[in-house]
Amino acid sequence: MKKLTCSICGAIYSYEEEHLIYRDKDEKNCECCGNTLISWNGSKIPTHFKLIKDGVKKSNDSFCE
Ligand SMILES: [Zn+2]
Repeated sequence: MKKLTCSICGAIYSYEEEHLIYRDKDEKNCECCGNTLISWNGSKIPTHFKLIKDGVKKSNDSFCE
């Protein structure tokens, strides 16, 4: 299991890396603030994203729901 942190709101996600037999190009946006968390272009893709820790909205310092 790998982890990544949103650089905007600080939300923490866990994910798995998967090797596909084909190439895929996509990105995952933060469920909290919409920031692009990670993008990929190839056969190694992140998948099974799971929000571990909510981020904080900068606008009013409240936690995302
Ligand atoms: Zn975020």
